[in-house]
Amino acid sequence: MTYKNTFVKKNNKSILVTGCAGFIGSNFVPYFLDKYENYNIINLDLLTYAGDLRNLKECEDNVRYKFIKGDICNRELVELIFKKYDIKGVIHFAAESHVDNSIENPGVFIETNVNGTFTLVDVAKNHWMEKPFNYKPEYKDCRFHHISTDEVYGTLNETDLFTEDTPYAPNSPYSASKASSDMIIRSYQETYGLNTVITNCSNNYGPKQHDEKLIPTIIRKALADEAIPIYGDGKNIRDWLYVLDHCKGIDLVYHTGKQSNVYNIGGRNERTNLQIVDAICTILDKKVSSKTLSSYKDLITFVEDRAGHDRRYAIDATKIEDTLGWKADNNFNTGIVKTIEWYLEKYES
Ligand code: NAD
Repeated sequence: MTYKNTFVKKNNKSILVTGCAGFIGSNFVPYFLDKYENYNIINLDLLTYAGDLRNLKECEDNVRYKFIKGDICNRELVELIFKKYDIKGVIHFAAESHVDNSIENPGVFIETNVNGTFTLVDVAKNHWMEKPFNYKPEYKDCRFHHISTDEVYGTLNETDLFTEDTPYAPNSPYSASKASSDMIIRSYQETYGLNTVITNCSNNYGPKQHDEKLIPTIIRKALADEAIPIYGDGKNIRDWLYVLDHCKGIDLVYHTGKQSNVYNIGGRNERTNLQIVDAICTILDKKVSSKTLSSYKDLITFVEDRAGHDRRYAIDATKIEDTLGWKADNNFNTGIVKTIEWYLEKYES
């Protein structure tokens, strides 16, 4: 366990935000610290291969931010953090998140995503509540916000959309572990009256995503003049959301979402993988044209499909739009330009 900076601001509310050295958390923390003066963020992250503290460089010296290296499955540590910082809210990002890895090595997905979520929510319940449906007075507004994925709903036909009422049908060990964690959160709401909310979001893209994911891979491979691998026929469809729009949705649900509710978050930006690679190569061709190829598109190479590859995901975001007033500020065309610019800086410096 490493305590980087030793103080957090007195009289502020301290919340535990897990997994912030990863992609979405590291976009969320600076946004949240900038927007709210009255919170301290305690970031518990194990720094697995997916976590990188360089993602949070801009927050390192902020007295309202503290990093603790550790495992969400470590009950003793989680209890100590709740006690020491008197945690009054949780936003839970930490997870094993890459579907391909879950096919190769599912065990760690169950350990982190299921057991880790259980440990966190159980410690929160014990810290905040006297008995079922009875909060200790000083913790009466404390909320547990669980970050989940649209992958829990399985795969779609060509026309339907995932709503909050779509039955769960996870297909990969990753989505099954996330679905299980959602169910654990639900049970703490129903059995103990813990104040919980869950958000299920579609595919995110933007700065700070790990190199292994689709969009950074396309950019990195193109710049290196290497084959750009695309699974199967490239026609799998995902609903892409710019990461900061997801962060804004989380903020809104955490503060104004209705207790026990689930909110789907998605950008209404469905794209096939082929459309994604095509759009990125077109932009790269203009910004940093290849010395050897007429277009980076020449590098596109179809590879054996991922086992159990879901065909289509698409979110109906009506609930969060209509009840909480959320709206994505970016569409794919604007978000992808910002994203490419960020990776050009990263890969070319
Ligand atoms: P990520 O893989 O980039 O980051 C995960 C972070 O969790 C890393 O910093 C890692 O070190 C940390 N971590 C892993 N195991 C841990 C453990 N046992 N204890 C403490 N920390 C641990 O993931 P991401 O893309 O930022 O996703 C964050 C959350 O959002 C996940 O719960 C994921 O399921 C969900 N989500 C992601 C997307 C997406 O497109 N990336 C979409 C919807 C939902």
